[in-house]
Amino acid sequence: MAQLDVQKKLEILADAAKYDASCASSGTAKRSSAGKSSGIGSTEGMGICHAYAPDGRCISLLKILLTNSCIFDCHYCINRKSSNVRRARFTAKEVVDLTLAFYKRNYIEGLFLSSGIIHTSNYTMEQLVEVARSLREDHGFRGYIHLKTIPDADPELVAAAGRHADRVSINVELPTVPGLARLAPEKSIDQIEGAMGDMKLSILDARDAKKHFKSAPRYAPAGQSTQMIVGADSATDGDIVNRASNLYDRFGMRRVYYSAFSPIPDASAVLPLKRPPLMREHRLYQSDWLMRFYGFAPKEVVAATDDGMLPLDIDPKLAWALKFRESFPVDVNRAPREMLWRVPGLGTKAVKAILQIRRHRKLRLDDLARLTVSVAKIRPFIVAADWRPMFLTDAADLRARLTPPAKQMELFAA
Ligand code: SF4
Repeated sequence: MAQLDVQKKLEILADAAKYDASCASSGTAKRSSAGKSSGIGSTEGMGICHAYAPDGRCISLLKILLTNSCIFDCHYCINRKSSNVRRARFTAKEVVDLTLAFYKRNYIEGLFLSSGIIHTSNYTMEQLVEVARSLREDHGFRGYIHLKTIPDADPELVAAAGRHADRVSINVELPTVPGLARLAPEKSIDQIEGAMGDMKLSILDARDAKKHFKSAPRYAPAGQSTQMIVGADSATDGDIVNRASNLYDRFGMRRVYYSAFSPIPDASAVLPLKRPPLMREHRLYQSDWLMRFYGFAPKEVVAATDDGMLPLDIDPKLAWALKFRESFPVDVNRAPREMLWRVPGLGTKAVKAILQIRRHRKLRLDDLARLTVSVAKIRPFIVAADWRPMFLTDAADLRARLTPPAKQMELFAA
């Protein structure tokens, strides 16, 4: 590998890290205030992404790979062994120095570090852990650290990652086992799930210890997360929803991230030629939200699909409501919280406000207009003190009336 200076390595390894969706800004639309990526307010500054800390703050992270060299050959990955990309590799010390330099200049509040696999999984994991250890122990770094871990590395090394990082993640990669076997043949679902299970136990043990001893050491306080690639195999949205729910239940995932597969240069012949619509990724995030915050069971989200796929033109909650019209209208002055959550257009904040207001008086349509973005969207599905929808939920054209008008695509959108 040719000798590169740190600036050049940063260019290559920050660019290579952008394919990982586990930072909130990864899914952002292209936006550059100066027509190039360095403008004020640009969301694409080299290596900086945004994530949410456990306390809900949005924080900036330096998002890089330790190296984009890899001994594996996952078909969907630009860094795979057979890819023809320019390679670079940081030393652990270079990552530590960069993180501290960026941190001291107030560019970042933490580090998101992942890596291709070099030499062996254990060797790579040792390097990742060394970065986090050195930041914490040699430099007293108190910023946020998110470490990707390598599932087939020694469990002791994976455990060490949790001792230094705020969040750890282990990518499940594909929604189905056959998809993983076809597109990442060197990866093993047993190893991935085994590492997730070990991580869950360590996190729970540490939480338990913290309850009893204030001085118990921290262990991945922001939990573990994972990422699934969408659209690289034939998995339906129904498959993805079921898989995500399974991961939340079995491994206590804090987040499952969905990353729309994007065709890469010199792509493998087994991959689709086109990326899935970005809206598909968005609809999956909405369905994830329904399961985590709105009390929907996975099978209810799946019931909102058409042949396994979520509609792209309307959100999954509206799709469910249109399919199960017999559940409506819901009386906002009497219905339990769980039924209010089902009303398209009513978010959790609006439902909380409804429950508070109705303790004192009956809600009218005007009240709901003040609490929601679009009263037109909720009207067919609710009863209020001065409103009852006459046969509206039975109307054959209800879907057409509630479908937002198609937006003009950006001329130069990817
Ligand atoms: S192991 Fe990771 S970095 Fe290597 S090819 Fe597979 S996805 Fe890419």
